[in-house]
Amino acid sequence: MVYPPNILTQNPPEALAKAFGFDRNYAPVNVKSVKHIEDNTEHKCLMCGRVQKSGYIDKKRVLIGVNTNDFYSYIAPNSSFLCDYCYYCYKHYKKSMQSDLDRVYGDMGNIVVYADRIEEKHFNADEKNELYDLLRSPPKEAFAILLKRIKGNTFEANFHRFLPTIDSDLFVINYGAKEFFVPRKKVFACLDDFDRIAKELQAKKIDFSEDVFFNRSLSESYNYWFSPRLRNNKEFFALYMDFINEYDRGVRFTAKTIKRRWEKERRKDA
Ligand SMILES: [Zn+2]
Repeated sequence: MVYPPNILTQNPPEALAKAFGFDRNYAPVNVKSVKHIEDNTEHKCLMCGRVQKSGYIDKKRVLIGVNTNDFYSYIAPNSSFLCDYCYYCYKHYKKSMQSDLDRVYGDMGNIVVYADRIEEKHFNADEKNELYDLLRSPPKEAFAILLKRIKGNTFEANFHRFLPTIDSDLFVINYGAKEFFVPRKKVFACLDDFDRIAKELQAKKIDFSEDVFFNRSLSESYNYWFSPRLRNNKEFFALYMDFINEYDRGVRFTAKTIKRRWEKERRKDA
């Protein structure tokens, strides 16, 4: 199979579907009241929002209903067109969600997508974290990094809206349906800075938890959810504010994700 090298930047859902076996496995489903077309030039896909050539006209929402998880992450939710790539990924995603035994081409999360393949990665925030390696020595662009975001007992689908990284110094970290733009070198600066601040606070005997600085929730409003004892400590608060202002949520999220691995590497170097 020959893939155009720019497929990932021009049409991410197509790249993902093909890397997951679209060309080998695809056969349009035959469902009453749903029409398959291959000459679409006007309808936007309800999931990816792109005018893809082939897909389904599904006015009654038989294939993907409004009660689907993540419905509100769809780009054009009012459209009645669903493209072949998104539907293929959707079915695949459902399948991989139901049982690990059913996995044929891997999950939709914790992967790196290239123009011609997918690599499964360990992106959990522990000592084995492999996002660290990508940030240390980035592969040749373009590539797309998809971190799995767990929601309850399922995970958040983002095959329809992930963004590729096209500049290896500015990573796009797709975390569920959310994407962070992360200057690569800033992640390491953030970890170095935190280390310095931690030592300073320890020297001053100010107790704090790492999570105060690196809260991984997606809401900025949690930035100030820590104890009044810390909030009212001027020395702490000044250091904290400098840190928060210097490193945005995406950088802190990414730094926290690779932190255990970063520490492990540092111990090796010492
Ligand atoms: Zn689509």
